[in-house]
Amino acid sequence: MAKIEMTTPLVEMDGDEMTRIIWQMIKDELISPHVDLKTEYYDLGLEHRNATDDQVTVDSAEATKRLGVAVKCATITPNAARMDEYDLKKMWKSPNGTIRAMLDGTVFRTPIVVKGIEPCVRNWTRPITIARHAYGDVYKNAEMVVPGPGTVELVYTAADGTETRELVHEFDGPGIAQGMHNLDSSIGSFARSCFEYALDTKQDVWFATKDTISKKYDHRFKDLFQEIYDAEYAERFEAEGIEYFYTLIDDAVARVMKADGGFIWACKNYDGDVMSDMVSSAFGSLAMMTSVLVSPQGVYEYEAAHGTVQRHYYKHLKGEETSTNSVATIFAWTGALRKRGELDGLSDLVAFADRLEKATLDTIEAGEMTGDLARITSLENPTALSTHGFILAIAERLRA
Ligand code: NAP
Ligand code: MG
Repeated sequence: MAKIEMTTPLVEMDGDEMTRIIWQMIKDELISPHVDLKTEYYDLGLEHRNATDDQVTVDSAEATKRLGVAVKCATITPNAARMDEYDLKKMWKSPNGTIRAMLDGTVFRTPIVVKGIEPCVRNWTRPITIARHAYGDVYKNAEMVVPGPGTVELVYTAADGTETRELVHEFDGPGIAQGMHNLDSSIGSFARSCFEYALDTKQDVWFATKDTISKKYDHRFKDLFQEIYDAEYAERFEAEGIEYFYTLIDDAVARVMKADGGFIWACKNYDGDVMSDMVSSAFGSLAMMTSVLVSPQGVYEYEAAHGTVQRHYYKHLKGEETSTNSVATIFAWTGALRKRGELDGLSDLVAFADRLEKATLDTIEAGEMTGDLARITSLENPTALSTHGFILAIAERLRA
């Protein structure tokens, strides 16, 4: 049978450890037999990042801006132990951080829902996508310990030297104080990324802050979202039959627990940090969670939400059998192939992405899965397969 043709290449960002092994298996067993795969390859494996002084990461982000769609393998973020292990010249920054900063993007995390892996919250029958703002607030704070009585103020000095002051507190004893900031430009990019992704996936957007208490800071987020929505998106949302909905964060949390899913929950930086861990563990497993970085210009980078699964990799190196879950990495590939197909008008490629996802889910629903899922599934008598065995089982269904 003739292979499915592509016109524009995907930006392929290879990575590290066990996910690098899985990456190759997915290409060899699941994609290449069916698709005449075109990619622009960037090796983001730690050795090559070190050899290129991390230029390869920058180049891959530039290529993503140029070509529009990337697929990324999990990568090591170096720490002290990795400095020795890989004999690094420098403690290179997190590639995800570098790419996110260059694309000015927002990360959307979505659980992969499959029969047999039941969410802890019974009514969550459809995925809840968390969109986390990735700039500012408490993550770029300035804080101090106040040793004793005195005054803490916020001082803004304008370019012409004029000062504006706001009293934080008159301390009559020791305490603590903190200043934080955000930028209209960053909040605007966040809002546009959320609205773009909502149109793309035909889902409602929920956004919540504590604007009743934070009347200037959080209120600014609320106002900017509303202004951008009204000016640029309201008509398009109406045409698609989707909604933008703002509420207070405590009301949002209560509603999320009662909802059945199928929407995007846009979160400020801290809320997103906390809520994404809650949502992902309630849905079952990080290995069943996809992640896509969307820029306000509509550039997409797909990846798995988990790391390089180091412990499994060391077993693999010792020649022991592993059972590493490849689902999130497979869905990173299908997400990227589908988006490429949509942008280039290639219905065959879109249909292939759908087929590969269905074959993956059908394999699990038939009771064939990796060890991490076999331990938590509600299906009876599941078969726990090896890393390669699971991919081969999907390949067989895909051919059928
Ligand atoms: P991890 O790779 O996500 O793995 C943590 C543990 O979760 C594993 O040891 C494994 O548990 C389980 N797990 C995660 N993914 C799995 C999968 N696909 N199948 C089966 N089990 C899975 O996190 P980590 O060990 O903290 O980090 C390892 C490296 O990944 C670090 O160098 C970190 O910098 C990097 N990292 C990269 C990214 C990224 O590129 N997006 C994200 C996070 C971390 P068991 O061992 O109990 O089986
Ligand atoms: Mg966190």
